[in-house]
Amino acid sequence: MLKNSIRIARIGGISINLHVSWILIFVLITWTLAANYFPRNYPVWGLTLYWIVGLATSVLFFASVLAHELAHSFVARARGLPVHDITLFIFGGVAQLEEEPQTPGTEFVMALVGPLTSIVLGAGFGALSVAASGVNEQLAALSSYLALINVWLGIFNLIPGFPLDGGRVLRSILWQASGNLQRSTRWASLVGQAVAYLFILAGIWLIFTGDWVGGLWIAFIGWFLDNAASSSYRQLTIRNLLAGHKVREVMSRDCQEVNPDLSLDRLVNEHMLPQGARCFPVVEGGLVRGLLTLHNIKGVSQDRWPTTTVGQVMTPLDGLKRIGPDEELWTAMQNMTGKGVNQLPVMEDGQLLGMLARDNIVSFIRIKGELGV
Ligand SMILES: [Zn+2]
Repeated sequence: MLKNSIRIARIGGISINLHVSWILIFVLITWTLAANYFPRNYPVWGLTLYWIVGLATSVLFFASVLAHELAHSFVARARGLPVHDITLFIFGGVAQLEEEPQTPGTEFVMALVGPLTSIVLGAGFGALSVAASGVNEQLAALSSYLALINVWLGIFNLIPGFPLDGGRVLRSILWQASGNLQRSTRWASLVGQAVAYLFILAGIWLIFTGDWVGGLWIAFIGWFLDNAASSSYRQLTIRNLLAGHKVREVMSRDCQEVNPDLSLDRLVNEHMLPQGARCFPVVEGGLVRGLLTLHNIKGVSQDRWPTTTVGQVMTPLDGLKRIGPDEELWTAMQNMTGKGVNQLPVMEDGQLLGMLARDNIVSFIRIKGELGV
């Protein structure tokens, strides 16, 4: 779940969230429709009707975006990839996949079904608009707008650059043809970045020709696409490098155990500084009582270090987030990011096996990446 989101519904076990930026775009679209688009095209409706139809159109537009994301999600689930949530935000929607598709075929179908849903919805609204014309002008207006915007949404998403659906379609085709996931990801991201730069250039050009609002908006979309292309590339590369590796392989086993009676003063000067260690399992009578990290020490002012013991400031075992030795490294990393921690104790059957720090994963990635293995 993205930060600053609230859950509004659950559909088929998938939670539907709204991100705070969604409110901005919802208000903007409703306002544009009610104050500009409908009055310009249908001058005789009156203020109340403009706002009612504007609001209804806006709600149905977001329902259409949601349908697009649900289509991705249901195909993903049918192919065994769990989806936890869908978040609607300023640039549309995003379905949070727990795992990446394992075959090009799955990725192809999963990516394509979203834009197809939008185009089919667009065709449906188009038919509705034809049927309603001459019968109900408001319904005809609403559905012709939704027909256009859904078809546009479908086509826009088919642009063959990451992170758009078309980028995934492209990647799956390259992946199928070359058998090399890493290189295919690279290419789909490069095309994604090229598309992003085109958007930024088009935006700047529009600004110079006097269309400030449109130009800024298009440049803003380009900036977002550029960011998303490079970050999704980074993320996928890391994910590929970590795939199949377990916590056990990279955790550090040489954690120095300390006694709960030790003063912070001595801990820092005799253990922490000389060894460059950042965290210590606190052990008493052969049992792990808790964990002491740099973070715990920073919460105590320095003049109290000599009189404060490790046992007083450690995070006790009960409150400790932990991880098993056979968990996937990728999951472990997600866990650490999600919980905002830099290390996790690796435990099995109440025994401390070692510590997994972010640094362990980073150096694993770096070495693997440099050796190209
Ligand atoms: Zn999509």
